[in-house]
Amino acid sequence: MSRVYNFSAGPAVLPEEVLLEAQEEMMDYRGCGMSVMEMSHRSKMFDTIIEEAEADFRELANISDDYAVLFLQGGASLQFAAVPMNLMKNRVADYIVTGQWAKKAWQEAALFGKANKIASSEDKTFSYIPDCSDLPVSEDADYVYICENNTIYGTKYWKLPNTKGKLLVADVSSCFLSEPFDINNYGILYGGVQKNIGPAGMVIAVVRKDLITDDCLPGTPTMMKYKTQADNGSMYNTPNCYCIYICGKVFKWLKKMGGLSVMKERNEKKAKLLYDYLDSSKLFHGTVVKEDRSLMNVPFVTGDADMDAKFVKAATAAGFENIKGHRTVGGMRASIYNAMPYEGVEALVNFMKEFEKENA
Ligand SMILES: *Cc1c(COP(=O)(O)O)cnc(C)c1O
Repeated sequence: MSRVYNFSAGPAVLPEEVLLEAQEEMMDYRGCGMSVMEMSHRSKMFDTIIEEAEADFRELANISDDYAVLFLQGGASLQFAAVPMNLMKNRVADYIVTGQWAKKAWQEAALFGKANKIASSEDKTFSYIPDCSDLPVSEDADYVYICENNTIYGTKYWKLPNTKGKLLVADVSSCFLSEPFDINNYGILYGGVQKNIGPAGMVIAVVRKDLITDDCLPGTPTMMKYKTQADNGSMYNTPNCYCIYICGKVFKWLKKMGGLSVMKERNEKKAKLLYDYLDSSKLFHGTVVKEDRSLMNVPFVTGDADMDAKFVKAATAAGFENIKGHRTVGGMRASIYNAMPYEGVEALVNFMKEFEKENA
């Protein structure tokens, strides 16, 4: 068996311990004679899996009973519609557009009401987070929306916006469980799990319970109502059982690692290694302003498209996979999620140093 260092932005690297455990349990899950993929979602066995997953997630992220934890399908992208369908009572919402995912969410909301773009960093290809201390938040806005970590551009809100009392909704797909967060700052927080937690095809939505009502926009499909999902323990229909099972294992792995504050320290250490090198390099440089740098997604360029292509080719040949930047940005991007070991980043930086020497 040979494993590469996988810098994919998502689906992405998972802890090897989790994969090995899943392999071990593949044919016969804990003596029941079948795999988790084959078992009824109404079985006792699966009940235990989903209940433990939720309990471990709540414990890790310190989620109180004021919030529902929902395991939903349709990825983060379906939440772009679910949020306005469930929250847009006045048909007004304010969006801060800091990248493609925020832009898509904003465009989707415009299908349902007045979606105001109250700030944006598109003028400089989303390379920074705008000042959000005193934005023109709409009087009648149902919520203010952000994408907290911008996967493609590599920026992160290190301070949440001043929403002037309005509800904050955040897409945290690419920074989910990478550090502690205070759920009380959010009305809804959600993330697709394939960036930092598990396999693709599921989103975890943490929704404040008083926001879960039957009062959705007219025509909201049953499946899209948070109430349907909350009333049925995320099992109104067949959930993504195997994904819930793997996420549950990742939660246990995170707990064993020491929890989210330990993950934050580890992630800071990994990111510092790479950013320090980028800041000192004469060949490579980061593409976003320093204050807004993400700990999870690190885009960088040489400034020469041919040199970028040469680097990507050489890196791939040396076992550094998925290092090519997003098609809309070019250059390179290293996604260094929770499951990427320090050694992986160290090996990448050493490889970059060698490459720089040879191409000086
Ligand atoms: C990947 C990503 C999405 C889209 O996730 P899907 O599960 O493919 O819908 C949305 N938002 C952010 C921040 C992402 O990184």
